Amino acid sequence: MGFAKALKCRECGKEYEKQPINICEWCFGPLEVVYDYDGIRKVMTRAHIQRGPHNLWRYRELLPVEDGPVIDMHAGMTPLVRADNLGRMLGLENLYIKNDCVNPTYSFKDRVVAVASTVARQMGFDTLACASTGNLAGSVAAHAAKAGMKAFVFIPADLEKVKIVGASIYGPTVVAVNGNYDEVNRLCSEVADNFNWAFVNINVRPFYAEGSKTLGYEVAEQLGWRAPDNVIVPVASGSLLTKVWKGFNEFKDIGLIDQVQTRVHMVQPQGCSPVVTAFSEGVMDVRPVKPNTIAKSLAIGNPADGYYALKVLKDSKGTATAVTDNEVIEGIKLLAETEGIFGETAAGVVISGLRRLALSGAIKPKELTVVYVTGNGLKTQEVVEDTVRPLVVQPTLASFKKALESK
Ligand SMILES: *Cc1c(COP(=O)(O)O)cnc(C)c1O
Ligand SMILES: [Zn+2]
Repeated sequence: MGFAKALKCRECGKEYEKQPINICEWCFGPLEVVYDYDGIRKVMTRAHIQRGPHNLWRYRELLPVEDGPVIDMHAGMTPLVRADNLGRMLGLENLYIKNDCVNPTYSFKDRVVAVASTVARQMGFDTLACASTGNLAGSVAAHAAKAGMKAFVFIPADLEKVKIVGASIYGPTVVAVNGNYDEVNRLCSEVADNFNWAFVNINVRPFYAEGSKTLGYEVAEQLGWRAPDNVIVPVASGSLLTKVWKGFNEFKDIGLIDQVQTRVHMVQPQGCSPVVTAFSEGVMDVRPVKPNTIAKSLAIGNPADGYYALKVLKDSKGTATAVTDNEVIEGIKLLAETEGIFGETAAGVVISGLRRLALSGAIKPKELTVVYVTGNGLKTQEVVEDTVRPLVVQPTLASFKKALESK
């Protein structure tokens, strides 16, 4: 049957049977999945996990799916790479990159969609849908294709062309909305009320969000069953950040790791940084903003989990940083030139955030630090294409030598 027992309101605690809803009808608080942790503790040992598949389904007892087949595109178990070159530049001796660029549709969204699409099919839906800042659209469309489901993906019309093509290719209906993400999301909430579709990040959001916990589990397992001292996480809605923290703490609670002394550091692009602003002002409610940034995958002006992300920063003694669009570009290039990893704008955001934290001394040289690189740079080439230039030569040695001299 799986170990997910019910849904529970994060505010008033009211419990609901598992079903496609995300808001408490009593107090409008967000719902979260609750598990039978005693049952999980009995079966989920380190050895049990290591016998599992080499993807996120090795943690299926802690994911809200029923028994039976899952929609499996082999998301997860992405490389955790030691970043000695980047570390040397920043004065950090124990730095790692969690490289989620190499998921099936090239972003971490495959983790959440693997779970949401499986739950949706188990609940009897034949159509997957989403409101997307770009990466989610591609992942939903691909998983629907794999599962033989229909798909409707809603995106802001001004999205990067590669992300539109990269979603459309899987054959969904792509709906380009003349508006920003927050307007797309509002429209989708209305559509969800009128059509019997599984909107992965709306009506099945409590299940969807659980998929991000695997970014905590994997890092802990790949570090040899321990939680790092610092994690650097990009924030759009704030869901990923809260679930990385939840993942470490669940591992501790069921006895898979000893302790969690991790500080969770959030980074947002300055042009869309409502959660960072709230943190700096020392308040817990997040004032919505109108996004204006090249980091489109993070351009959510009214973040659904902003409040809970702030709570994680408090509980973990973390920090919040906003970086400029220029720093985003510098961050993309720095990661590529030091570690050979081409991340998207969200990667530029966290790498620049890391640089600031290292230079200010907020992160100490010997601490074990993990940076989450959540999406692939091939999808946001337009932000860096003017900063790179090939040597153009005639097919002669003389021309090549001349070009080399003038370089
Ligand atoms: C969606 C997304 C995020 C942030 O996710 P939230 O859970 O909404 O905070 C980070 N990086 C990339 C590349 C994304 O596509
Ligand atoms: Zn409630």
